[in-house]
Amino acid sequence: MAVKGTGPYNPKNIFAKILRGDIPCKKVFENEWVLAFQDIAPKAAVHILIIPKKPYVSFIDFTKTASEDEIAGVMKAAGQIASELGLDESGYRVITNAGENSGQEVPHFHLHLLGGQPLPPFPV
Ligand code: C5P
Repeated sequence: MAVKGTGPYNPKNIFAKILRGDIPCKKVFENEWVLAFQDIAPKAAVHILIIPKKPYVSFIDFTKTASEDEIAGVMKAAGQIASELGLDESGYRVITNAGENSGQEVPHFHLHLLGGQPLPPFPV
């Protein structure tokens, strides 16, 4: 489903359902800011999705409307998750698709954490 990076948030999107517990996920981390879980179709040996608990469509509205505390909280969580998964030494990639041209499929802002193997040159 193509999305625009801004516009109204649709609470029926799949990640909103995961946040509400309406559908299951393979959770790896949770704190006050984020929920993180395994991608259902992993593109690398480690492929984790990190999503804010609040409703943002994409990086576009997240960076425009989230508080600095929340932006810091989400980014620090990404680093903590990578560390806890043992990826600091080997390295990893964090990316986000934002809006229609990026190919973003799920209209709830998410970071992809990819690692656990040598990654192909960017873009994956
Ligand atoms: O950045 P983008 O929106 O394209 O990424 C969406 C990601 O969500 C995909 O990697 C897809 O495999 C994942 N996904 C998931 N569980 C779902 C639906 C999508 O992990 N139920």
